[in-house]
Amino acid sequence: MNNSAIQLNWPLLGNEHILNYLRKSLTTGEVSGSYVFVGPDDLGKTTVASHFAYSLLCQNRGKSSVLPCGQCPSCRQHRLGRVDEAEDSLASVHADLHLVKKDKEKKNVSIEQTRDLIKALSMSSFMNSYKIGIIKHADTMSSEAANALLKTLEEPRNKVVVILISTDLAKLPETIVSRSQVLRFHQVSTDVIYQYLVKEFGIGRVQAKNLARLSLGRPALAVKFLQDQEFYQSYFKRTESLLNFWRMDLNGRFAAINEMLGPKASGQEAAGLARRILETWQGLARDLILCNSGQVDLVQHEIVREDLELAGKSLPLPLIMELLRSIKQAEDYLRANVNPKSALEYVAMSV
Ligand SMILES: [Zn+2]
Repeated sequence: MNNSAIQLNWPLLGNEHILNYLRKSLTTGEVSGSYVFVGPDDLGKTTVASHFAYSLLCQNRGKSSVLPCGQCPSCRQHRLGRVDEAEDSLASVHADLHLVKKDKEKKNVSIEQTRDLIKALSMSSFMNSYKIGIIKHADTMSSEAANALLKTLEEPRNKVVVILISTDLAKLPETIVSRSQVLRFHQVSTDVIYQYLVKEFGIGRVQAKNLARLSLGRPALAVKFLQDQEFYQSYFKRTESLLNFWRMDLNGRFAAINEMLGPKASGQEAAGLARRILETWQGLARDLILCNSGQVDLVQHEIVREDLELAGKSLPLPLIMELLRSIKQAEDYLRANVNPKSALEYVAMSV
């Protein structure tokens, strides 16, 4: 068989350099014991990790021209894509594939989760195949957990592969990164996402253009906007409320922050929400700069264009720059575990 002809039927848009690299590994059999997949959310890192795993586990590897083949006993053990939906923190979606992710309410991937994974990887495999562990939110691993994992990586075993998924390489222990193959995922161009939405979902050009821009280079986010009306509406509402924000006095702004965070939000959930609010704010601030410089056609939030142009008139450039500075500062506060509400209030008081 001509090895170069292997096709990967993995649902990934963009980031061809990653597919090419992993295709080569699957073709030559030169597989690293540890990988770090790094890049912003919603680029398909977990999708690629699970499909790489399914391909390594596929019993027709070396025979089939498509990986994973979808036909062999191993491929039939899992439903493609399921790994990301698995509910358990250590979910075995295949006898030889294990997923660890941070519990929603927890701050870290815990030492217990990591020990369970290491134990699972040390067992002999089903039909002498690979044993694969995927660790999502790897940058939240406690130092105890990271040390335990490091011991496993230091004594590489044949056919054991660990894939760490992270948004920030700097937050992973250097000792782990230096032992791993690092693959960087990049944002996908707006035009590629636009073409994809039109072709795959048959939606109109205007809607496709708007969603492609809103998603800031993240295909999975564009698809979520399209398929999850509730998610889209809440994003739209937040955007509008942030645009009106600067017309309010301080009391009004604090009340708006309370409303955006909701009565129940606390802990990591509130921090995640505050991060998304800051991200939307940042996008709007950039849009306002574009409006100010007469480049309205390039704005991300085309969906609220009229409101943008209106807000642009009341916020001169120096104030917008100050706003961007305070958003960055608030992001640092969140990283340092400052109360999410206080971090947002800091921005509210800045302009
Ligand atoms: Zn197969």
